[in-house]
Amino acid sequence: HAPDIRHSLSSAARETHARLHGRIEGAVASYIPALAAMPPDLFGIALMTPSGAVAEAGDTRHPFTIQSVSKCFTYAMVLDLLGRDAVRAGVGVQPVGEPFNVIELDPRSNRPFNPMINSGAIAVAGLLRQTLGPDAFAMVKARLSACAGRMLEVDAAVHASEAESGHRNRAIAHLLRAAGAFTADPQEAVELYFLQCSLLVTAHDLAVMGATLAAIGTNPLSGKEVFGVDAVRDTLSVMFTCGLYDGAGDWACRVGLPAKSGVGGGVVAVVNRQLGLGVFSPRLNADGNPHRGLLACEMLAEDLGLHAFDAT
Ligand code: GLU
Repeated sequence: HAPDIRHSLSSAARETHARLHGRIEGAVASYIPALAAMPPDLFGIALMTPSGAVAEAGDTRHPFTIQSVSKCFTYAMVLDLLGRDAVRAGVGVQPVGEPFNVIELDPRSNRPFNPMINSGAIAVAGLLRQTLGPDAFAMVKARLSACAGRMLEVDAAVHASEAESGHRNRAIAHLLRAAGAFTADPQEAVELYFLQCSLLVTAHDLAVMGATLAAIGTNPLSGKEVFGVDAVRDTLSVMFTCGLYDGAGDWACRVGLPAKSGVGGGVVAVVNRQLGLGVFSPRLNADGNPHRGLLACEMLAEDLGLHAFDAT
């Protein structure tokens, strides 16, 4: 059935792109100059099935920094390396209706609420750094590259300004170290986080990465196992409940897909065992989510019947 699937996915991608082309509300992230320089109206939609059939529309090969979309992949990686219990000792799986950079920890555990917000992702980075040592970033880069099916590289300018301006994230790293969420040096932990956020991807890459999760951890292009079954299950669960920050509950009802967005303009969404979605649209809404990227996921979910609890 592959050619038929590809045909209907291609027309869904093209139609969604055409229908949302004019939706240029919001503004590109401007907390660092390297992000503010992004042409604001770029828009790309890519879809990939677990067998590697791909459909694309628009600017799907334009590079941007992965930013917070990296959080789901480093979480899957640390789950693979340490197992669920050891990871849970450093970071929870509890949704929180707070902005992404909230400094508060879960009072019950003195740990970050979940790995999709900055505190949780920095805890994951700390666990990776303490487990892997100075090679941690090389290994994170290799794992995310295996997930994308090509070698990913850091945007040096974005990395430099993330590191220079990231005082709040540094404060979070020190708080986590003091709370005992990890034993690595907090500066090394947050440096790993800045580097992972600065990896360059495209909408096509995010579709491949999403399809790798949809295919229970096996990259559709290379056929290689990137993440284990248990890691993928836990990762998709937290993406479903916590992936869209303060908008997560609304998203789960309306769109019904595990997803993660980033301030670079990327969104990844996953239809379990069926599809990876990668969208790029750099204008962000007031919550810091790519406005048109979320609309595209919602429209595709509606048109293709992708909601996890669709009855038809
Ligand atoms: N590097 C950004 C930060 O930690 C990522 C935020 C995001 O993509 O939501 O502030």
